[in-house]
Amino acid sequence: MENKLLPTICYDLHSHSTASDGVLTPTELVHLAAKNGVDVLALTDHDSTHGHAEAAVAAAAVGIKFVPGIEISVSWRKRLIHVVGLGIDEQHVEMQVGLAHLCKLRQQRAEAIGAKFEKIGMPDVYAGACGLASGVVSRSHFAMYLVEQGVVRDVQQAFKKYLQKGKRCYVGCEWASLEDALAWIHGAGGQAVVAHPARYKMSRTLFREFLLDFKALGGAGLEVACSSHNFEEAQLMAGHAKALDLLASVGSDFHSPHSSWAKLGHVHALPEGCRPIWHDWK
Ligand code: AMP
Ligand code: MN
Ligand code: MN
Ligand code: MN
Repeated sequence: MENKLLPTICYDLHSHSTASDGVLTPTELVHLAAKNGVDVLALTDHDSTHGHAEAAVAAAAVGIKFVPGIEISVSWRKRLIHVVGLGIDEQHVEMQVGLAHLCKLRQQRAEAIGAKFEKIGMPDVYAGACGLASGVVSRSHFAMYLVEQGVVRDVQQAFKKYLQKGKRCYVGCEWASLEDALAWIHGAGGQAVVAHPARYKMSRTLFREFLLDFKALGGAGLEVACSSHNFEEAQLMAGHAKALDLLASVGSDFHSPHSSWAKLGHVHALPEGCRPIWHDWK
């Protein structure tokens, strides 16, 4: 029986800093995590580990356990999938070579997005977005610049109007293969987790095929509890995890204190019967 007197450990295993499209520096992120009662925090910036060193120092100072992580952009059957790596050694050479390639693709894509804005009479958007990025350049920086300039009401509207697939300034990209992303994570000693799995608009059959590929490549788990999942989606993902003997992870996908939907450390508990990704962590 569960001992109700044992304090529950608060895990948040998906968050972003200014090393990608988060608005807090790694130090500010760790301080907010401490304030919000997080005990174990993973920094999982898009395609970059540049925030790790700073976050590790800040976490040690405030007594939080820091998990070095990553969120890798993957193309699987022409679809964009995000794969989180947890407990990775940032020194792993193959992974860093792969991430450098992804960052080069991001830079080229940003230039192509900028060219599309220029074509529709908005020549300053590329420079504006780059000015807001202090690490990896993301579509989020374009969205933030458009908000700043009053072109759109909020980030969501920027995606809806210009940046998401099918919209005027969208540029597609062939990201890492699932095989490469998992090989990098495993080579770096980490565990691979499918980020926000309910967000991909796949049929149940296609999603099963994806999970079978992921599992065959040694994938460890699914984010069952995350800010973008409602109760039913969390239950659904818990079912997939159990059926395929995958572990369950928890992450807010925190980007900004101004976000109304993703608060650092505020994620629902895992549904009953899930085996947590941290079950054998030291
Ligand atoms: P990128 O990795 O540069 O393609 O940018 C993707 C990032 O943009 C995601 O990680 C989210 O942070 C953000 N994003 C994607 N879609 C939306 C949306 N519809 N509304 C707000 N933010 C979004
Ligand atoms: Mn993001
Ligand atoms: Mn993501
Ligand atoms: Mn994320």
